[in-house]
Amino acid sequence: MQAVPSEFLAINRKERAHKPFFDLDLRPAEERVCDFNDVVIPFDEERARVEASRCIHCPDPAPCMLACPTHNDIPSAMWLIEQGQFTEAAQLYHQTSSLPEICGRVCPHEQLCQGSCVLNKTEEPVLTGQLEVFALDYEREHQPYTIPVAEPTGKKVAIVGAGPAGLACADQLIQRGHAVTIFDAKPAPGGLLVYGIPNFKLSKDVFFSKWAEMERAGVKFVGNTYIGKDKTVDDLFNEGFAAVFLGVGTGIDAPMEIPGEDLPGVYEATDFLIRGNVNAEILPKGKDGRPDIGKRVVVIGGGDTASDCLRTSLRLGAEEVTCLYRRTEKEMPGSAKDRKMAKEEGAKYRFLTQPVQFIAGEDGRLAAVECIEMELGEPDESGRRRPIPIEGSNFSVAADTAIKALGYWPDPVLGKTTPELETHKWGLVKVVDPGTGATTREGVYAGGDGVTGPDLVVTAMVAGRKSAWAIDAYLKSK
Ligand SMILES: Cc1cc2nc3c(=O)[nH]c(=O)nc-3n(C[C@H](O)[C@H](O)[C@H](O)COP(=O)(O)OP(=O)(O)OC[C@H]3O[C@@H](n4cnc5c(N)ncnc54)[C@H](O)[C@@H]3O)c2cc1C
Repeated sequence: MQAVPSEFLAINRKERAHKPFFDLDLRPAEERVCDFNDVVIPFDEERARVEASRCIHCPDPAPCMLACPTHNDIPSAMWLIEQGQFTEAAQLYHQTSSLPEICGRVCPHEQLCQGSCVLNKTEEPVLTGQLEVFALDYEREHQPYTIPVAEPTGKKVAIVGAGPAGLACADQLIQRGHAVTIFDAKPAPGGLLVYGIPNFKLSKDVFFSKWAEMERAGVKFVGNTYIGKDKTVDDLFNEGFAAVFLGVGTGIDAPMEIPGEDLPGVYEATDFLIRGNVNAEILPKGKDGRPDIGKRVVVIGGGDTASDCLRTSLRLGAEEVTCLYRRTEKEMPGSAKDRKMAKEEGAKYRFLTQPVQFIAGEDGRLAAVECIEMELGEPDESGRRRPIPIEGSNFSVAADTAIKALGYWPDPVLGKTTPELETHKWGLVKVVDPGTGATTREGVYAGGDGVTGPDLVVTAMVAGRKSAWAIDAYLKSK
C-alpha cells in the first residue's frame, strides 16, 4: 500500500536522490553528559518535511519496508510527512506497529530501514527513524491516539511479562475485543524499556504515555507478581484465563565466574542501569537508589549494554570511565553509533583485555581489577577471532566500580513449574511454530527474547503481535 501518486514519482526520483543531506542534530557531548535527557534534537515541521522529501519512493515493496521487521509502510509515511500530513503518517505506523514511538527511538535503523535505503549507494540514507519519532511526537501533542477496541468477546487472556513482546500482544488482543491482564515481576510495566534502556535513549515519559494509551483501551496490569513463584501458569488457567502469552525476556545477567565478583562496588549491568535510570517510586523491591560509583569506573563487555553502562556512569558523575573488552574494536558486537557517542562523551576503551579477578581495598570494597592481555587466534564458532591470554601479562586497573555487561540468560522457572511446557537447555521457551509462538502446552504462546535469546525491541514486538493473532484464532476455534 503506497500513497504516492505515480506521476509524481516519474518526474522527481532523480532530483530527489541528489537533494542535500543534513545529519541528525545531537546536543553537544559536554552538555548531554550532564543530564539524562534525550541526546537527539527533535525535527521541527520544516526539517521533517525537507528530510522526508529525500525519499525517492522505490518501487513496491521498497527495501526499507522489507528490512523493517514489522514492515512499516515507510515510503507512504515519508510522502505524508512531506505533505505536512503528520497525524496521517502516525496513523500509518500504528497499522503495522504496536510501539512506533519507541521503535523510532531505539531501533538500530542503520542496520534495518536506513541500512537498506538505496540512497546508501551514492548518498546518505533518509533518516526514517527520526521521522517516525517526529510523526508520533506530533500526534501525541496534537491529537493523542486512541487504540481502536472491538466489542468484548467475553474471553480473558493472561500475559506474563510487560516488555515489548507482552505489550504488543496486549495491544493486538485488546483490539480484537479480548480482556487482557499483564502480570509482571516488576512494579511497573515496560520490561527493558523501563528497567534497562537508559533515559537518554528512551525517556520514561515516552513509555508511560504509551502505557496510558493501553490502559485507556482497557489493558490491566498486575505488578510485583512473579509467575512460577507467586503463582503458576496453571493458576492463571484456573482463574479463568483462556490463553496465556509468555513474554518473559532474558532477565538474568551472565556471571563472569572470577574471584571477587561479590565485592561491594561490583555490579551486574541490569542492577546498575535500573538504579541509575529508574525513579525510586518504581524501583523493584530490594533495589536501592542511585549507585555510589566513585570516580573510576570500568565496564566489562563489548555490546550495547556496555555502551549504555559507560554513558550512564558518565552521567552519574564518574571522572574516568573505561571499557575493558577482550577482543579488538573490530569484533565488538555493539552498535558503532552508540560507541561513537560514548567516546564523544568521554569513555575510554582498553581492548584485548580480560579481567581475571576483582581486588578489594583495605575498606573491603573494590579497589582494582586484575586483568590479563589477550591476543587473537583463529576464528571461533561465532566467526570472530578467539581471544587467547598472553601468559605473564597480568596488570591492574584501579577502579571504584566495575560493571559486568556480558549478556543475559532466561530464568528457567517457567519451564520447571509449567507442566507440558518444554524449554531449551538454557531455559528459553520452545515454540513449535515460530510464526505463531505456539508452545508445547495447549493455549500457551510465547515470544520475544525469552524465546530467541537477547535480540531487539522490534523483533520482540513483532513476535507478540503474531502470537496475539494466533491466540485470537485459537479462542475463536474453542
Ligand atoms: C541495557 C539494554 C539496552 C538495550 N537497548 C536496546 C536498544 O537500544 N534497541 C533495541 O532494539 N533493543 C535494545 N535492547 C534489547 C531489548 O530491550 C530487548 O530485546 C526487548 O526488551 C525484549 O523484549 P521482551 O518483551 O522479550 O522482554 P523484556 O523487555 O525483557 O520484558 C520481559 C518482562 O517479563 C518480566 N518477567 C520475566 N519473567 C517473569 C515471570 N516469571 N513472571 C512475571 N514477569 C516476568 C520481566 O520483569 C520483564 O518486565 C536492550 C537491552 C538491554 C539489556
